[in-house]
Amino acid sequence: MSLKDQILSRIRADGPISVASYMNDCLLHPTLGYYATRDPLGAKGDFITAPEISQMFGELIGLSLAQAWMDQGSPAPFTLAELGPGRGTLMADLLRATRAVPGFHAAAHIAFVERSLPLRELQGKALANHDPSWHEDMDALPDQPLFLIANEFFDALPIRQFVRAGPHWRERRVGAPDGDLMIGLTDPAPYPALDHRLNDTKDGDLVEICPAATPVITALAQRIGTYGGAALIIDYGDWRSLGDTLQALRAHKAADILSTPGDADLTAHVDFEALATVANAAGCAHSRLTTQGVFLERLGITARAQRLASVATGEAQENLITAHRRLTHPTEMGNLFKTLGLYPKTATPPPGLEP
Ligand code: SAH
Repeated sequence: MSLKDQILSRIRADGPISVASYMNDCLLHPTLGYYATRDPLGAKGDFITAPEISQMFGELIGLSLAQAWMDQGSPAPFTLAELGPGRGTLMADLLRATRAVPGFHAAAHIAFVERSLPLRELQGKALANHDPSWHEDMDALPDQPLFLIANEFFDALPIRQFVRAGPHWRERRVGAPDGDLMIGLTDPAPYPALDHRLNDTKDGDLVEICPAATPVITALAQRIGTYGGAALIIDYGDWRSLGDTLQALRAHKAADILSTPGDADLTAHVDFEALATVANAAGCAHSRLTTQGVFLERLGITARAQRLASVATGEAQENLITAHRRLTHPTEMGNLFKTLGLYPKTATPPPGLEP
């Protein structure tokens, strides 16, 4: 039975499901889900990410995390973790760039949080000279200092959507009133977790929440707050989200979210305020939300691009110029993508995220 038929029969039996439940099935169904069945990245896939655009991205993240590690007294041992590492490209670039940092590699236990088996395999190949461990979620990570990167991970976590109706909210749900998948709305009801959004929304506005992010942020913030460390969270989104940001991508083009369950990537913008609030409550400080362009410029991407370009020729040189622009320019990824840093209340923010 196709994934769509499975979802339809579940809806026929139990009634409409939340957008989060639909996203969860589409992305993470153990045999038919999007991430269970493919490598989604690159020209032949559905989307491309910053580490796949240029080695400079992972290199600069590596320098920021290694400097944060040194600023906190080079604790050893520590966990060097990545959430949703894709093809392992970012971690491989990060490790190459930090080879010369005294003691950094020797003290690091590399840990990947990854649900996709095809991607775990690619990550193993990319990290063949290292010894990463793989985990289903954050809880399995040891109680010790934690330096962590998550690039385009939180946008893949399932979201719920609510439409304001006076002082109440109607949840968007996926149902099948005429036999095919369709979005509908519940009756209005109070929803205390959205009380703070009654101040900045009007009737008919749509807001999103990402319940799955809470346990992940809590687990990492508790470790960083207690044992030291830092997290760099990079994604598209804003301080506070407003409006429908759920999107489907197939072969680099926007697709309908309901028409091909399990065959299109589904993502939503990240509400960074929500992440920062949870991190604070769990004992961490957070940086100012900084655009990717500013973050990478502060870390020296222009000098790095010039250095690489000085030893490249022809197409390789052109590619460096294009990559620098794609990662940093305000009309490309520079403004849409943001970076949030989490760090102990007694420490300074990771480099690139200074106030
Ligand atoms: N960070 C990579 C890949 C981004 S794609 C890059 O920048 O190229 C999203 C990644 O998160 C994939 O590796 C996917 O398998 C993983 N992922 C998505 N949802 C997940 C979940 N709930 N738990 C663990 N990993 C997840």
